[in-house]
Parts: sequence; C-alpha cells; structure tokens
Amino acid sequence: MTKKICVLPGDGIGPEITAQAVRVLAALKLDFELETALLGGAAVDAAGDPYPEATRKLAEEADAVLLGAVGGPKWDTLPREQRPEKGLLGIREHLNLFANLRPAVLYPELANASTLKPEVVSGLDILIVRELTGDIYFGQPRGIEQRNGERFGFNTMRYTESEIRRIGRVAFAAAGKRNKKLCSVDKMNVLETTQLWRDVMNELAPEYPDVTLSHMLVDNAAMQLVRAPRQFDVLVTGNMFGDILSDEASMLTGSIGMLPSASLDINNKGLYEPSHGSAPDIAGRNAANPLATILSVAMLLRYTFNLEAEAQAVENAVKKVLAEGCRTGDIFEPGMKKVGTKEMGDAVLAVL
Ligand code: NAD
Repeated sequence: MTKKICVLPGDGIGPEITAQAVRVLAALKLDFELETALLGGAAVDAAGDPYPEATRKLAEEADAVLLGAVGGPKWDTLPREQRPEKGLLGIREHLNLFANLRPAVLYPELANASTLKPEVVSGLDILIVRELTGDIYFGQPRGIEQRNGERFGFNTMRYTESEIRRIGRVAFAAAGKRNKKLCSVDKMNVLETTQLWRDVMNELAPEYPDVTLSHMLVDNAAMQLVRAPRQFDVLVTGNMFGDILSDEASMLTGSIGMLPSASLDINNKGLYEPSHGSAPDIAGRNAANPLATILSVAMLLRYTFNLEAEAQAVENAVKKVLAEGCRTGDIFEPGMKKVGTKEMGDAVLAVL
C-alpha cells in the first residue's frame, strides 16, 4: 500500500534542505506519496497560525513527517501563541511523540571538526534515546509562589512505570538494531523517580536477551561522554537528563549540519528533522548543509518503515560524498571541494 509522507519545509534554510531530502526520497523509487504543508513562520504568514488545521490534518493522516526547521527574527516579536516554535511544540504534542532519537555520529573524514582530540572521537557512533513528554518538564505542581515572605520556586519530577516501560522498549529495540549495548542513565542515588526508572529497565531486560543492559548515574555519564564516548552504543534517559546529554553528545561531532533526529509515537509513526534550526543568517544562499536532513530520511526509512537496506544506502552515500571531499561551508577545510546545498544533494544522488 502507498505510504504517505507529510513534508513540512518550514522557514529559513528549511525549504532548501528539505528539497534535497525529497530528491533523495524520490531517487529510491519507493511506493511513497509526498504532500507538502506549512508550519512555523511560513504558516503564520499564510494562515495566521503556526500549526494550521490543514497541516494538522495532513500530519495526522501521514505515516511519517519530514520537517526542515522553523523560526526566524521576522516572527520573534509576535505574541507567544503565534510564534513559529509553537507550531513545532504543537505537532509534537498532537502526534504524541514521546521518544526522541538523536544519533551522534562522527565521520572519520570530519574528525577535525570536533573540539575533542581526533583519537577520542573518530568513529564515534552513539544513539541517545530521550523521553520527550514526561518528567520534571511536564510534572505538576509547578510554579513560583510567595511563601513565608519570600518567593518559592518548585517543579515536580514524575514518571509512571508505563511511561518508563514505553521508552525503555523503544531503546531496547533500537539497541537490538545496532551494537546491542544499552546504557540507562539515572540519578537513583538521590531521586526516587529514577530508582523506579532503573527498576523498570531491569524488569524489561529479560524480554531482550540479545541486548546487554548497563546503568550509569547522570553525572558520570556527562563525564564519560567527553572522556571516552566510544564506550557507548545506545543511551536511554528521561526528558531533562536527555535534553542535556543529547546536546553534549551532538557537540562531540562539532558539526551541527550533520545531525538528524527522530521523534516517535507508540506505533513508530515519526517526525524526522535535522537537529539544527532554520539558520536565518545563511537562508536563501544555497549555503546550508542538507546532510542532516538527508540523514533524517535514512532514520525515517529505518524507524517508521523498517527499510534497513535503503536506510544504509542513504547513509553510505553520505559517507561516500564526504570521502570524495565534498564540503558545505560549515564543514569546509582547506584542500576540500566546497559545494552548495544543491550540489551536495547532486553528489548524494549521484552515489545513490
Ligand atoms: P541554528 O541551528 O539555526 O543556527 C546556529 C548556527 O549554525 C548558525 O550560524 C547557522 O548558520 C549554522 N547552521 C545551522 N544549520 C546549518 C546547516 N544545515 N548548514 C550550515 N550551517 C548551519 O540556531 P539559531 O541561530 O539559534 O536559531 C535560528 C532560528 O532557528 C531561531 O528562530 C530558532 O528559534 C530556530 N530553531 C528552530 C529549531 C527547529 O526548527 N527544530 C531548532 C533550533 C532553533
């Protein structure tokens, strides 16, 4: 049956990078039907709403969503409800995307882009699985109140065991598709919520006998990520720890234009997008790196459609163009061949 993909180019460099990703999807000649809609600032301009009804409908009907990026200075002074970012939060909430998958891969050819020594990061290939809809970011009660004559701020860290089990299953399954090592990150020595987190992960482990589960306290995990990051395969953690660790891990690679991401619901329907923003400073100049968005297509093929061979073909094409010396401005080094957004797309298509 034809599968539906909703394409949301968004703002800034979004339309340029998604155009290249769409060319890659088309080149694979799969039975996909693509439909484009508005999100973010572009949707505010056209419909007065960052997540308009027509986009909602299309996103709901689609099997997967491919997104560029949203936002830009033009919309920064609008009331909060009409800002582009509201569209992004809106679609994540609407589609119940509770599992965020962020790989941090350092291609050997880009080892000099990292701030860490090449021998520490070369060949790095980590996947961070972050719970996205629970934890202290959403827990009630929360607020700032007057108590005993002074201001008092409070938040609530909370997880139900079913929420932990749900994200745990995504992480065990992802590890099963990779090097079969899962490290669960918590702070069980201080926080009861994360003691429950560890207990539930241990209870799940027998269901995945081919995956080796280990545990690490979050402070140690933050340290190990810069000390010896290649010890990790898949990391799974809660919303707040995942927020911080996934940014730390992505920066090990030094090149924001290379990092894809996926956010999944319980049925593996997903929203796929690059980890970077809309880069208004280089928008419309054919200067953006489209590889993070092209690699998001690889994740879409792998996680929503279970097309592992096609996913690897896209990833191998990216590796090959890097090995051939093609570089957009963000990853350029002297001696390499400088290309624009479209030419980088051409190079990937030529290999595919
Ligand atoms: P940004 O990621 O857009 O840009 C940071 C820097 O990285 C800029 O110098 C930019 O030119 C560069 N960069 C980013 N992606 C690149 C690419 N593919 N190729 C080459 N260079 C690239 O972050 P920012 O400047 O903080 O934010 C700009 C806008 O994007 C803001 O409106 C922000 O709200 C929005 N934003 C959106 C998302 C999203 O849509 N998921 C995420 C982050 C920021």
